[in-house]
Amino acid sequence: MYETEREELVNNLRQRGIKNERVLSAFLKVHRHLFVPDIMIHNAYLDVALPIGQGQTISQPYTVALMTELLDPQPNHKILEIGTGSGFQAAILYELGAKVFTIERNFELYNQTVKLFEKLNYKIATRCSDGTIGWSDFAPYDGIIVTAGSPSIPENFKKQLKVGGKLIIPVGDKLNQVMKIVTKISDDKFSIEEISSFAFVPLIGQDGWKEK
Ligand code: SAH
Repeated sequence: MYETEREELVNNLRQRGIKNERVLSAFLKVHRHLFVPDIMIHNAYLDVALPIGQGQTISQPYTVALMTELLDPQPNHKILEIGTGSGFQAAILYELGAKVFTIERNFELYNQTVKLFEKLNYKIATRCSDGTIGWSDFAPYDGIIVTAGSPSIPENFKKQLKVGGKLIIPVGDKLNQVMKIVTKISDDKFSIEEISSFAFVPLIGQDGWKEK
């Protein structure tokens, strides 16, 4: 179902500048219509963010593709995602052969997405907690991807990254963020690149925004 729509979406991503063929083929494999609420199903293959309940959103496909391309996970890389949400980004990483660990703080979304992963037979490690402190049990990670906007770069993410690993995190205020690509050069040395402006839902927690 929706095969033509997926192909059109991939063509659109290619036109917008996504070059990594492995990433593009993951977008053909993951059925985004299964990750959105039923009433949104007809918009599932548009290149837009959509509401998923609990005041949260499934990210725009272009943003997911771009962050995945920046992270460039190799098969068997251990990847930590903060902000499971619908599970779509985690599913893309899983289809790329990564070992995916993902944390969601909202219990309803967490429950819903765990059930979807089971149904799709995705072996993804999930946890319901505050992701701003990371997941030290399985650290260090080859990559960490944060899919909610943070006021700063939490120290734990830097600590839990392998040397040579990359952290992709939108940092800014509650409305606008820049995407930071943080590469761990040695235990205490990091290089940081930045790209244009994004609008994510806030990362809420101990090392993120405080809940009101
Ligand atoms: N990657 C998701 C994007 C969901 S939006 C997808 O593909 O659909 C971001 C998610 O981050 C929301 O579900 C929100 O509840 C969650 N979130 C916000 N702060 C968090 C935190 N401290 N720890 C874990 N999840 C968090």
